[in-house]
Amino acid sequence: MSAETMQFKTELKQLLHLIIHSLYSHKDIFLRELISNASDAIDTVRFQSLTNESLLEGDGDWKIKLIADEAAGTLTISDNGIGMSRETIVEHLGTIAKSGTRAFLEKLKETSAQQRPDLIGQFGVGFYSAFMVADKVAVRSRMAGGEGVEWVSDGQGEYTLDSVPKEKRGTDVVLHLKADDKDFLKSWKLREIVKRYSDFVEHPIVLDVETEDESKAKVVKEETLNARQALWLRSKSEITSEQYEEFYKHLTHDYDKPLKTVHYNAEGSVEFRALLYIPAHRPMDLMYADSNKGLHLYIQRVFIMDDCETLLPRYLRFVRGVVDSPDLPLNVSRELLQQSAPLEKIKTNLTNKVLSTLDELKRKENEQYIKFYEEMGPFLKEGACQDWSNKEKLADLLLFDSTKTDAGKFTTLADYVERMPGDQTEIYYLAGTQRDLLLQSPLLEGYKEKNWEVLLLTDAPDEIVFESLGLYKTKHLKAIDKGGFDAGKVDDETQKKFAPLVDAIKSKVPELKDARVSKRLKESAVVLVADEGDMSANMERLMRRMGRDKALPEQKRILEVNPEHPMIAKLQRLATLDANDARLDGFVRLLYDQALISEGSKVKDPQAFAQRLNELMLRD
Ligand code: ADP
Ligand code: MG
Repeated sequence: MSAETMQFKTELKQLLHLIIHSLYSHKDIFLRELISNASDAIDTVRFQSLTNESLLEGDGDWKIKLIADEAAGTLTISDNGIGMSRETIVEHLGTIAKSGTRAFLEKLKETSAQQRPDLIGQFGVGFYSAFMVADKVAVRSRMAGGEGVEWVSDGQGEYTLDSVPKEKRGTDVVLHLKADDKDFLKSWKLREIVKRYSDFVEHPIVLDVETEDESKAKVVKEETLNARQALWLRSKSEITSEQYEEFYKHLTHDYDKPLKTVHYNAEGSVEFRALLYIPAHRPMDLMYADSNKGLHLYIQRVFIMDDCETLLPRYLRFVRGVVDSPDLPLNVSRELLQQSAPLEKIKTNLTNKVLSTLDELKRKENEQYIKFYEEMGPFLKEGACQDWSNKEKLADLLLFDSTKTDAGKFTTLADYVERMPGDQTEIYYLAGTQRDLLLQSPLLEGYKEKNWEVLLLTDAPDEIVFESLGLYKTKHLKAIDKGGFDAGKVDDETQKKFAPLVDAIKSKVPELKDARVSKRLKESAVVLVADEGDMSANMERLMRRMGRDKALPEQKRILEVNPEHPMIAKLQRLATLDANDARLDGFVRLLYDQALISEGSKVKDPQAFAQRLNELMLRD
């Protein structure tokens, strides 16, 4: 095929612009990124060749070569990995395939220049960091059995593609270094950077260095720059915390230390070693991309895959690390491997380990746990809804606001149960958007008087999580804005006395499902609740916000009135004297409207509401 010139996609242009014009620090990470791509490419072909040997083309001597050409001013990173075809080059080096790129770009703009390079690596656009040091980049590549292709760009908006002869399978990335970045041609510099960022890369990273032999003739010697240790296979006592940290950074491209490192050996029906990390903050790729990256699975040091759901359930996708097992079959397809019984056992074991580590963190280092929870809480909530086998453990990891916690402090379900007075049998909660608004809700009045604690759920998914959990250790989770009030029934006499008013409300406010007298309220006159089994006001608002309006029929609620309230007593007298008193119409509507406002909903007809209020104020 002939030469062609193509345009980068818009977002990529913006990204390249940012890289070229604003990244001056941490420039050396470009090498880490390109080596990491080379290493990934080798892993891919090595794994595929296990079931298709022809891919090797006789070359299975895995190697990443760095070639510094002082005269030409170029640094080449060369690998004998999987290689790219013309199509894959366009797909991978001409667009950003990941979703959420726009959000990522925004994030990048507001991040300090210091941390930007790391974001680039984490987001999975590492290749483009080449333009931090090069004003022209050429990528020459060939897949097994395919044709050589060359991609060239100055990062300004266009790239060219051409067919080229390429003898060996794999990829050469040729960087034409900027005038100020010629240091990256020096052996000492390359040694230093590889040692710092890529020491754990499993494949040899070699540098050609010129030396003189005994007869003073120039010879080129290959020097391996990285130690290539499989850290996870070594015993804990030999590993320093710096080494654990370095390996974490190597795996994740994170600039922070991990929050927790767990390195263990599982024996029993399936043997494996695992080195797991719990990051201190939410990994970037989880926030802005459809990432399926998870733990890296090795079988006897051979990298097999890093798909998230294979080794841990999806909700634990924030956990990073490596698992290596000699008990898994090496020469089978991914599909067969994924279904193998030992892998299932490993997954169960790892899941338990992560959950118990978090539980320990929660008990022993609560402040750290709260920080972790602020970042990763949503994943645990996702798990609480999905993972039935670990439902209770996950519920135990959740933190909540309540009527008995101070602002900014949290309670667990276990602590809540611990505090329950003897006459309380269920766990009560109220969901909404803000703690201070919830605290003012009339719905709390009756519970406050009983000294029954109410959990205040302020995170949008909480209510869904609670509905899905249903129970916590045999105790029902009960929404206080639904169904009847548990602590006290209204006696028959009061029921009878207030019947005319209740009837008037029912007939004059057809939007209501029902009206009743209740003991729920102490200070307020009225409140709206949902019927048992219906949707709460908070859930209804959530659904409508998510654009489910059309599918959602209008939700009718129940108006509860407080028989002790002087205003209700007055209306009761009015309704008893003359159920047809014209004033009742307006009063009853006003009652309903104030209940709507207090639950955070909109008054259906604000004009009429204002008019009724005005009339009331004009009256002597
Ligand atoms: P990431 O590595 O996170 O996918 P990069 O921007 O570093 O993001 O690379 C983009 C893609 O380009 C890679 O996923 C890979 O498909 C392809 N690629 C880059 N370098 C190589 C290489 N040396 N060999 C084969 N494919 C490569
Ligand atoms: Mg990469």
